[in-house]
Amino acid sequence: MAKEIFAIFGNPVSHSKSPLMHNLAFKGLKYDACYTRYLLEDGNRLKETFFRLGLKGINITVPHKEVAFHACDVLDDFAKKIGVVNTVVEREGKLCGYNTDAPGFLKAISEFKDVKTVLFLGAGGTAQSTSCILRDEGYEVTLLNRSQGRLAKYRADGFQTYTFETFEPQAFDLIINMTSAGLEDENLPAPKEILQHILPHAKACIDVIYGKETPFLKLAKSHKKPTKDGSDMLLYQGIIAFEYFTNQRYSFHEIKPLMQKAFDFN
Ligand code: NDP
Repeated sequence: MAKEIFAIFGNPVSHSKSPLMHNLAFKGLKYDACYTRYLLEDGNRLKETFFRLGLKGINITVPHKEVAFHACDVLDDFAKKIGVVNTVVEREGKLCGYNTDAPGFLKAISEFKDVKTVLFLGAGGTAQSTSCILRDEGYEVTLLNRSQGRLAKYRADGFQTYTFETFEPQAFDLIINMTSAGLEDENLPAPKEILQHILPHAKACIDVIYGKETPFLKLAKSHKKPTKDGSDMLLYQGIIAFEYFTNQRYSFHEIKPLMQKAFDFN
């Protein structure tokens, strides 16, 4: 059998840890495949590029997750529901699409027990899939976003939503930064006065940004809250994608220690 080739498509894509994560797992499991990165500028060329490069599977990162959804021939039920795909596998000439960000996120937060109410700071693409899976699992998700625009869709889906102007402080078990505030700047995801009001009531705080201590996590720590960054979410979405890539040949527990080594590199 010819060597299978996988890739991550995105723009930008140079920062992605996915090639390292997947190549470590392929090597450790002696699976004859390699994983590379591809700067895809025009999302409309996703399918054509996939077949031209002779790929077996891809992960998709910003800004192409919705285009990837439309490029797929077959979608699993959860991907169908949320309209966003980050993993595609070729099977008999057809592109099969999945979302592994959301189950990865769910697994990452499962260590926090006795959690019912969750506040999302932000309402972008990542919030879309994760809010949906959390609600399916019985959590009550509220969204607080800087501006009104992205909230309309969530309101239509029955979520409680607020902007900074309309927010009514209340207690939430988990507070999660789902914005890019703090990624390349030192911004908080919401005004400090709002955060100071709600942080004392939280059981824990999470940031989906990984690899740095964001201003949000610093503030949460100053309130003596348990915190967690986005590394586990990244790791777990990768493991679940790897399971699809290799047709469930390996268990989560076989893949995890191999992929986890990627987080030892800076
Ligand atoms: P989107 O561009 O889809 O959404 C961005 C969101 O952040 C919007 O709600 C936007 O608000 C808000 N926002 C941006 N800047 C600020 C700011 N300065 N203050 C307050 N709100 C702000 O982004 P994604 O959902 O794709 O990504 C969000 C984060 O998730 C990123 O940091 C990304 O790195 C991280 N991520 C982590 C993953 C992991 O595996 N750990 C996986 C995927 C994403 P508005 O609507 O007002 O513009």
